[in-house]
Amino acid sequence: MSTAAETQAGDGAGDVLRASSVSRSFAGVRALQDVTLEVRRHEVVGLIGPNGAGKSTLVNVLSGFDRPDDGAVELAGRDVTGWNASRRARAGLARTFQHSRAFPSLSVRENVEVAALGIGARPREAARRADALLELLGLEKLAAVTASALSHGDERRLGVARALATEPHFVLMDEPAAGLPEAELPEFAAVVRSVRDEHDAGVLLVDHNVALVMDVCDRIQVLDQGRTLAEGPPGEIRANLDVAAAYLGESAAE
Ligand code: ADP
Ligand code: MG
Repeated sequence: MSTAAETQAGDGAGDVLRASSVSRSFAGVRALQDVTLEVRRHEVVGLIGPNGAGKSTLVNVLSGFDRPDDGAVELAGRDVTGWNASRRARAGLARTFQHSRAFPSLSVRENVEVAALGIGARPREAARRADALLELLGLEKLAAVTASALSHGDERRLGVARALATEPHFVLMDEPAAGLPEAELPEFAAVVRSVRDEHDAGVLLVDHNVALVMDVCDRIQVLDQGRTLAEGPPGEIRANLDVAAAYLGESAAE
């Protein structure tokens, strides 16, 4: 009965990934201080902030590649703070990395298949997912190319395909558009939307491209020096002068 009730509640505990009051320090550097962030299924949440704000640390804490000193991580109603990354992956949480983690000597196609096999998909199913994802990401023509030969942009796309191959409920994307040519950003935005709309997943999108984040996100959270500075819908964030000073000011100076 409780399972049925959980499934029924569209925005119930089963549909949320949450970091609650997480803190993390590295040798005196307070990378995260009491940060709470929620991602629901079927929404895209943007995470922005200057370099060193703590964005990647938060992605690591959410995905199980790092542990918070304080606070908790919940996935679909369960406390997963003590779970390692592969256990969280099997429970429906996927991520991409700022730097490629593809197997360099395997082909693009094999890299996607291996990601599916890694969470227990059967070979035929892994092959089916690879076909569908290479098409979604526009990588069909590169299917047989070894990953080490990819351009930066194609490497980014492969990272997203590998994350989606696990059929996740939540996808964390750490600067997935870095290195993509400006002209390819609209297509990439469409991919992010399709992860939400067709794969029924919640997305956390970390990116430096403010236009992309404003365009594609339902909500945005701004980090600065390990703290949440603002959060809200894109229009509200854009209008927030504190954010402009902390974030856009820095971008303008770059
Ligand atoms: P962002 O992704 O927003 O640029 P990070 O989360 O990578 O920021 O880093 C936040 C702060 O924590 C920075 O000051 C960074 O130098 C520090 N930091 C992150 N990871 C480590 C680590 N493994 N060891 C030491 N310091 C780290
Ligand atoms: Mg980072």
